[in-house]
Amino acid sequence: MDLTRIIETIVGQMRDADDRGVVASYIPELAKIDPARFGIAIATADGRMVKGGDADTGFSIQSISKVFALTLALGKVGDQLWKRVGREPSGSAFNSIVQLEREAGIPRNPFINAGAIVIADINLAGHRPREAIGEQLRFLHYLTEDDSIAVDNAVARSETETGFRNIALANYMRAFGNIAQPVDLVLGTYFHQCAIEMSCSQLALAGRFLMLGGAHPAGGRVVSERRARRICALMLTCGHYDASGDFAYRIGMPGKSGVGGGILAIVPGVASIAVWSPGLNETGNSHLGTVALERLADATGWSVFSAR
Ligand code: GLU
Repeated sequence: MDLTRIIETIVGQMRDADDRGVVASYIPELAKIDPARFGIAIATADGRMVKGGDADTGFSIQSISKVFALTLALGKVGDQLWKRVGREPSGSAFNSIVQLEREAGIPRNPFINAGAIVIADINLAGHRPREAIGEQLRFLHYLTEDDSIAVDNAVARSETETGFRNIALANYMRAFGNIAQPVDLVLGTYFHQCAIEMSCSQLALAGRFLMLGGAHPAGGRVVSERRARRICALMLTCGHYDASGDFAYRIGMPGKSGVGGGILAIVPGVASIAVWSPGLNETGNSHLGTVALERLADATGWSVFSAR
């Protein structure tokens, strides 16, 4: 299989696409991003990197950060975490509050905003927000072997000024006792984590431990094999909010999207893939990113449901 050719074809098709989706505007800083951007990077299990388009342009990883934050939180509290967050697909939008009342302040999964805010509370315990964010950045530096990854402070500020819904979610969960620390500190951690800027190349590198069953490509273990498998299971069932079923049907890879237009997708044992196109579809996931991954799955046969 000529992966370079496949990527060239996909990049050409995405460059010419008319329907590019709509760039998120509820975080004003994100609304400034050019919808013509498209990038893709693939880190393969045999150590290659194949990339195209704007693969080295940084963008706001937003909810993709929830995968790394969950990994860190599981490292701190292990399966105790599941007393405070569920593991079921929500079938609701990323910022939905509807299930929280019925389920006594326990978010349905760690990838909807409410769940990620509880994870931020876990990661913050015993630290100041600056330290908790520093820990996340160090984790990403270790995974990518690239110390340049940082927070885009303009995006963090923009979200802090307009994050009314997340503020409501956090306060609502605190009323049920499922947020232990001051809401402003927990949200400060969450907003800065979402505002981390990475390129497709960096994200594909960061996802390698999930492709490699928890191992770091440079040696040693990031997480156990069982934990890597379970994080991938959550990405497959919950990684695209209320479109997780559609993503599994069309692409068949564990994936996590962000409103910055990025998607990280994992083919266990084969590839860690990052795509970015800022225009979103109606469920808040990258429109062309999803189309590109669907073409890639069709061209390569990569999917967790393929007989290999
Ligand atoms: N920071 C965003 C929010 O909390 C993340 C949402 C996303 O990327 O889907 O609304």
